[in-house]
Amino acid sequence: MSIILPGATIGFLGGGQLGRMAAMAARTMGYDVHVLDPEAHCPARPLASHVITAPWSDADAAARLAAGSDVVTIEIEQIPRPSLEAAEHSAPLRPSPHVLWIVQDRAREKEWLRDHGFPVGPFAVVRNADETTDAVRALGSCIVKSTHGGYDGRGQARVHDVAKAAAAWDSIGAHVCVAEKFLSLAAELSVMVARTPTGEMRAYPPARNHHTHGVLTWSVIPGGFDGAVVARATDLACGIAEQLGVVGLIAVELFLLEDGSVCVNELAPRPHNTYHHSERACVTSQFEQLVRAVCGLPLGDTDVVRPAAIYNLLGDVWSGPPAPDLEGVLARAGVRVHLYGKREARPGRKMGHLSACGDTSEIALTRVIDAYRQLAAGTAGAIS
Ligand code: ADP
Ligand code: MG
Repeated sequence: MSIILPGATIGFLGGGQLGRMAAMAARTMGYDVHVLDPEAHCPARPLASHVITAPWSDADAAARLAAGSDVVTIEIEQIPRPSLEAAEHSAPLRPSPHVLWIVQDRAREKEWLRDHGFPVGPFAVVRNADETTDAVRALGSCIVKSTHGGYDGRGQARVHDVAKAAAAWDSIGAHVCVAEKFLSLAAELSVMVARTPTGEMRAYPPARNHHTHGVLTWSVIPGGFDGAVVARATDLACGIAEQLGVVGLIAVELFLLEDGSVCVNELAPRPHNTYHHSERACVTSQFEQLVRAVCGLPLGDTDVVRPAAIYNLLGDVWSGPPAPDLEGVLARAGVRVHLYGKREARPGRKMGHLSACGDTSEIALTRVIDAYRQLAAGTAGAIS
């Protein structure tokens, strides 16, 4: 299998914050970067020597990106198959269209996991209001999730009452949904795995994640889970990476249930918000690991050098006055500010994150939460 050495060009389908941070790692290693994104002023633009502005459905544009690249990778799953296939025609696409096809549809992904023996919570695929009502009657409280296009808790509705199931179905406005039993979570965790074209794999230690209204608030590594949970989560994530045949990265989001068992929530075959701290904490960041994996280079160590945590900065923080206190938090021990260069700060939009290191995970997390509290004080993003 040929290795793609520095000096070559990596094409990114998607130039959002994940593409931007991965492109920075690629630049550090001496690669050139080309980007395709629907948004002309996308976050990765400053890193790219060539930017194609086109919608995801533009297969010719995807083919042009690939024609100018030695390898193509993605930062977003929802790219139509014709565009993926057009790209794959001219350069290796890592991960493959097959992997993306499975994760593009929440129902297909859940069925694939179940059929391959990976644990998932009870669920039903529903196609109308009556089926949603039946599912809630059978499963109890549910989260109904659109099979396509949902992220950061969008395209979802929580239903605790059979009588409200039909209204929940209507509110989502999708053709097909997955009704998942609402699980009582002891914790949320994720495991990032990198895999090369020859099947070499490395997993990162599990991260502990906290979501608010379906959106990631903070994440810390190491997650402080007991050995059995770490072993189980790592095993599941590596098994999924191998059986899917991922080349690149895959983040496996998991739930720790109150009985100590672990089940898989969802998959993301790309850099992931819950591993942004790997830039601070780990020998090799997820972004450098992505570059190594898709280029067929040896994978880097995933050990934690120093515990670190991140706290997401959503657009709400910029809704002021007051302006977020950036200078104030930069004066704090161990804290860094990461901004994605987005021009418009809409509520709920991920604009950046804070990170903090510490001697322990608890210290790192306390530092980043305290920093956020200061940064967001008086803004619509303030912690209530
Ligand atoms: P997204 O694709 O928007 O990330 P997820 O399916 O990961 O959607 O759900 C977002 C969050 O909602 C999860 O991280 C978790 O906090 C909560 N959640 C999702 N599904 C369930 C469930 N079945 N039971 C309990 N909480 C859930
Ligand atoms: Mg999720």
